[in-house]
Amino acid sequence: AKEQGRNRFHYFTPSMQEFARYRMALIKDLRHAISHKEFELYYQPIIDMNSGDIYKVEALIRWNHASRGMVSPSEFISVAEETGLINDIGNWVFEKAAHQSAEWRKQFGTEIQISINKSPVQFRDDGDTFSDWLTLLQHLELSSNAICVEITEGLLLDASMGVTEKLLAYRDAGIQVSLDDFGTGYSSLAYLKKFDIDYLKIDQSFTRNLETDTDGVALCEAIIVMAHKLGIKVIAEGVETEFQRDFLAKAGCDYAQGYLFARPLQQAEFEQAYLNPRSS
Ligand code: C2E
Ligand code: CA
Ligand code: CA
Ligand code: CA
Repeated sequence: AKEQGRNRFHYFTPSMQEFARYRMALIKDLRHAISHKEFELYYQPIIDMNSGDIYKVEALIRWNHASRGMVSPSEFISVAEETGLINDIGNWVFEKAAHQSAEWRKQFGTEIQISINKSPVQFRDDGDTFSDWLTLLQHLELSSNAICVEITEGLLLDASMGVTEKLLAYRDAGIQVSLDDFGTGYSSLAYLKKFDIDYLKIDQSFTRNLETDTDGVALCEAIIVMAHKLGIKVIAEGVETEFQRDFLAKAGCDYAQGYLFARPLQQAEFEQAYLNPRSS
């Protein structure tokens, strides 16, 4: 049996074994993190390009692990998706964001829309969670506008998950939808209309290339013009320089998000910078 076991795995290189071990440990820690609520939401403002004021905010998950430290979502979201753990994580994100929105309304008297990221895997496995979400919004006496859902382009191409029906249910419930990372996938603008998308987020890679790439400039301008013709608002992601901000504003982009304005902030930092009544 020992010999067999060895044979079975002899084609694994040490680095593959290491990776498998690393992955197993990560999954185990993730399960622990879910049951022990080790996650946190950070908040990054989305700025109105006309007024320069905050328009809404995107919630971005962080995992604060005892020995791993602060783990970035790029390190664990894909594993969470492969294992289905993203469903529990995603529901936690929704509940946390909804409670935060209610709390901010109570404390600061404003209902600021919070955008959350929803994985295609959550759409696949959804079941009844959407009605649970609506029930929670009602329970907290939030408007359906309180939470916006960010989806990615790939989702729109996958008809197998009943995506059309699900997104139309969002529309009927009055929940807004953003299309994240626009331009990196395969979706056409025709999809945006079909699914009643409210916001389109120009991917950071386009924003980054504005200074160097004339094709990137033409693409950004064309995306903004066409989105507006379809009645869709445009958010530019990854705005880091004044040049980018000025270019996008001139091109008619509605909103912008990026380090130029603020990094994703811890709740308390966010409140201090954006929600406290301003003192003169
Ligand atoms: P995303 O939804 O495209 O989020 C934007 C990412 O860009 C965030 O990275 C944000 O911190 C970063 N960012 C914002 N402004 C700038 C900038 O000016 N320059 C640069 N270089 N980066 C900027 P983060 O927080 O590490 O999240 C990475 C990805 O992880 C997100 O990309 C999203 O796909 C995923 N993610 C984050 N939170 C969640 C969540 O709660 N659920 C799910 N399913 N995915 C999440
Ligand atoms: Ca996003
Ligand atoms: Ca809509
Ligand atoms: Ca994005």
